[in-house]
Amino acid sequence: PAVFSPQFNNDFFKGQVTINTGLFINGQWVGGSSGTFVDVVNPSTGKLLTKVSEGTTKDVDLAVAAAQKAFDTVWGSHCPGSQRGKLLNKLANIMESRLDELCAVEALNNGKTFQSAKYADVSFSISIIRYYAGWSDKIHGQTIETDRNKLAYTLHEPFGVVGQIIPWNFPLLMLSMKIGPALATGNTIIMKPSELTPLTALMVADMTREAGFPPGVFNLIVGYGNTVGQAITEHRGIEKVAFTGSTLVGRKIMEAAAKSNLKNVTLELGGKSPNIIFNDADLGQAVNWTAHGLFVNSGQICCAGTRIFVQSGIYDKFLAKFTERIKTIKVGDPFAKDTNQGPQVSQIQFDRIMSYIESGKQQGAKVHIGGGRIGNEGYFIEPTVFTETKSSMKIVQEEIFGPVGVLIKFEDEEDVVRQANDTLYGLAAAVFTQDINRALETAHKLKAGTTWINCVVTLNPNVPFGGFKQSGIGRELGEYALHNYTNVKAVHVNLGHKM
Ligand code: NAD
Repeated sequence: PAVFSPQFNNDFFKGQVTINTGLFINGQWVGGSSGTFVDVVNPSTGKLLTKVSEGTTKDVDLAVAAAQKAFDTVWGSHCPGSQRGKLLNKLANIMESRLDELCAVEALNNGKTFQSAKYADVSFSISIIRYYAGWSDKIHGQTIETDRNKLAYTLHEPFGVVGQIIPWNFPLLMLSMKIGPALATGNTIIMKPSELTPLTALMVADMTREAGFPPGVFNLIVGYGNTVGQAITEHRGIEKVAFTGSTLVGRKIMEAAAKSNLKNVTLELGGKSPNIIFNDADLGQAVNWTAHGLFVNSGQICCAGTRIFVQSGIYDKFLAKFTERIKTIKVGDPFAKDTNQGPQVSQIQFDRIMSYIESGKQQGAKVHIGGGRIGNEGYFIEPTVFTETKSSMKIVQEEIFGPVGVLIKFEDEEDVVRQANDTLYGLAAAVFTQDINRALETAHKLKAGTTWINCVVTLNPNVPFGGFKQSGIGRELGEYALHNYTNVKAVHVNLGHKM
């Protein structure tokens, strides 16, 4: 298989990176069985970056066989937790030693700014791997009292071979959130990154080898959702599938799991999260956080605070200050020092967002700021806010997954909680107020897996993240994520009960 060697020369990173562009199966780089390739595009220019081997159902079969063999011989119960932890720590150290390379490739392939990759995605990914390294030798069950004639206890066993399917918005972070808990608990992995953003995942595959993970423990297959993704979800040799992506595809994953071997499924799906600002909020802070929650990662974040509810007493002041704040956002080259927002990830996403902006206009909402394309190369879109919306509008109900939000005026607490919960989604929510009682009361009434108070879109490796309603099933991060990757076995030991 070929190698892609981009050369970087910018303010942050000068140098060359070498990336294997094959499939990583059983600790080896191999070409795909079909000999076909996936095009990888630079979203800042719209031009082809490289071609990467495309996997097929046959490659998934090969990877599952390798992963099963590794599980049965060198991983799972054959490898003590302390050793798994050591390997995860080594992986984190290698990632850290190549931090700038990973950031540069993430910025090149995804379009996020180098700086955000450095201070958010990549550093956070490393912390997550370290966090789960620490759990590796702390996976244990319970002893349960029954009566004096019996000893009962539980074992938390890995599933075996797990499939992991991730999206393009945080390529390395999504990968780390998946492999950390899966490897810590002793599973082996078939990973499918998004076909749009496979490059940092390919780098990590090499790093797992360098760290000393035995062949077959981590396998990586680049390919499309309806081929490789579907082959993973339908595979009878895979006991569990963990998916992050759209609600539409999440539904397909559950169906395929149900129709094949009823494999265990966890889903991290879309959102349309409310961001609520009460009259008594610290205005400056509320403005800054709201801008972060809406525009971070070019708005391509599942928990973005896209429905901004502002109480009537502060609405005009907030709108004026928020508008000034938005005007300071510099959209452009991900490698420039003063850039805050890069391009959208692909032509398809760009078109999708622009058509949502069009639908907002057509349905009668007002473009308060933004709404247009920037430049004529790459997929850059202005930070956009709509006002004068109605709850039935598509831009209020559907996930846009771009730098587009709606600003909605509300009167009282009851009214805003009702509106905030009026969505199919339940991923996250935020509340801004200086009244602790109002903050907690509102946070508790919101139907969302995460509620932030006086902040928004901030995560920690040890705090769980996941959705209510159609935003998903299961939790990632924290101790909770370990449950995604273990099966509980109950053992009953007879100590003297005679039949
Ligand atoms: P997507 O659902 O189109 O694709 C996600 C992954 O699934 C990709 O790897 C894709 O190739 C694969 N896939 C597509 N069809 C498949 C199929 N039939 N079977 C198996 N796999 C298939 O999503 P996307 O466009 O890559 O990402 C954007 C979506 O992801 C948004 O809806 C966003 O909210 C969601 N997301 C959620 C979280 C979360 O934690 N809740 C995090 C990031 C992104």
